[in-house]
Amino acid sequence: MELPPLLHEWFQWELLRDNWCTRLHQNRDDLEDAIQKVARMLIESRYAVAFTGAGMSVESGIPDFRGPQGLWKTYNPEVATLSFFSKNPEQFWKFAREIGDKLLKAKPNPAHKALAKLEKMGYIKAVITQNIDGLHQKAGSVNVIEIHGNIEKFICMFCKVVYDIEYVRKKLKNDAFPYCELCGGPLKPMATFFEEKPPEDAIERAAEEAKKCDLMLILGSSLVVEPAAQIPRIAKRNGAKLVIINMEPTWFDNACDIVIHERVGLVLPKVVKYVIRMTKKSRLSKLLDFFS
Ligand SMILES: [Zn+2]
Repeated sequence: MELPPLLHEWFQWELLRDNWCTRLHQNRDDLEDAIQKVARMLIESRYAVAFTGAGMSVESGIPDFRGPQGLWKTYNPEVATLSFFSKNPEQFWKFAREIGDKLLKAKPNPAHKALAKLEKMGYIKAVITQNIDGLHQKAGSVNVIEIHGNIEKFICMFCKVVYDIEYVRKKLKNDAFPYCELCGGPLKPMATFFEEKPPEDAIERAAEEAKKCDLMLILGSSLVVEPAAQIPRIAKRNGAKLVIINMEPTWFDNACDIVIHERVGLVLPKVVKYVIRMTKKSRLSKLLDFFS
């Protein structure tokens, strides 16, 4: 029987909707299941660490670099290279003024807070971050290793004297870029630029944590920047279990035990919730065992 065109379309639409709803529902079940597994892994871990990237701060209003809305869609990445800075500190500081305020005014989001809570509860021992925004510390994380430095301190390119942010703020009121009081050299944020080596002591400490851990949560990082991306590889080589939570697929997904393509700000608070629920339950069952 031939259906009238309108009815035919309607049936098609129904079919599509059913299919879509089932898929959505299934995906949601899979997601909850995966989140519960992560919570269980954290509870059973001996030494868990987190490795975080730009995806962690996107929900705080800080654009990531390479994503679809990333910073490098608006700006030429050349602006954050050491060679560009050496030749055009003025140009760099124009860019820095535009994004700096956003960075400094940003507030920790639910993902930062959940991670800080997991550290407080004793499940996360260290946070290794590629981010320079200081939001982990603002959220309450204590053992934070900033492998790309931060934007709280500034160094003179000539004599290497270090200045704090207040000095830079004062200078920026009147000058095109902040310069050194002693030698007049341009000041550069102590965040790692392209073509620049990340701070060696931070990388070493991060590598130590990666060797020590038996579980690593990779959060909001597409793992494309070296040598940062070698940190999860070290953990993997040393037998750690790996969980990756990132919006987009990464080349490293196949090496991970759990892969979740979702917002970290949605997933991590749920992990905390399940950890609390599971540990309460196990305490209760121990108590019941004791009395039986
Ligand atoms: Zn100087």
